[in-house]
Amino acid sequence: MSTSSSCQSSTLKIGIIGFGPFAQFLAKTMIKQGHTLRATSRSDHSQLCQDLGISYFRNAITFLEADNDVILICTSILSLPEVLKSMPLHGLKRQTLFADVLSVKEYPRDLLLKVLPEESDILCTHPMFGPESAKDGWKDLAFVYDKGCRMLEMSCEEHDKMAARSQFLTHTIGRVLSEMEIKSTPISTKGFESLVQLKEVTVKDSFDLFSGLFLCNRFAKEELKNLEISFEKVKLKLLDMMNVRQDINDSNL
Ligand code: NAP
Repeated sequence: MSTSSSCQSSTLKIGIIGFGPFAQFLAKTMIKQGHTLRATSRSDHSQLCQDLGISYFRNAITFLEADNDVILICTSILSLPEVLKSMPLHGLKRQTLFADVLSVKEYPRDLLLKVLPEESDILCTHPMFGPESAKDGWKDLAFVYDKGCRMLEMSCEEHDKMAARSQFLTHTIGRVLSEMEIKSTPISTKGFESLVQLKEVTVKDSFDLFSGLFLCNRFAKEELKNLEISFEKVKLKLLDMMNVRQDINDSNL
């Protein structure tokens, strides 16, 4: 991730590509901040955009011609190549800053460098929050852009390594707990309640997002392996204890 030149007090014309749950969440705050928004997406979000005061473009060409200062890419990780391919990016009439918010970083950086005109600026970002964790605002949460946020500058590689060991792990455990269908009980401990909470928050994100964290981050496979190995180690420790007890019982007979 790199930091941008600050947009401080000025308002911007921001064009959003991919108007899914995360873009909608960002858009609501960006509107409050006074920016002018326009959006394009695979599905028809025109009614919602009209309600929010956002110009919605079904046509990628007119969207790109709409004089955007910044184009914010908010598509799912897996659809990014397809989405970029469908846009006539070389027809851009002015120098534009492209910022992406995908939850993996090396993958979109490499794609953007490949398809964007040479004069475009690229800003790779990952807001470390979502509609749930920042429902009361994103002050002090990590992201570039907003003055209230904690700015973190790191390479895409460092980001992906760290995210595989933190975010991907969190989502994987949340999905496993969901497969187990865990639910609060009258005797839930605080620890267990945080697991239930984790399960609930993770399954709200799309499966596209979760699989993108795995498929498009080269460090994720190793972390999945680490998780399996660690699970096996813990299981073996328990089974060993079982054998020790059995031996004690047998010797007492
Ligand atoms: P998502 O499922 O990752 O992405 C949904 C978006 O992708 C929608 O705009 C959808 O378009 C578009 N899309 C999906 N498949 C497509 C395809 N085949 N062709 C064209 N467009 C396609 O859900 P999300 O939560 O909104 O996340 C969006 C991005 O933000 C992701 O890259 C994610 O990694 C990143 N992010 C999310 C969070 C979070 O908390 N949710 C936090 C940080 C970063 P339509 O709506 O038009 O169908």
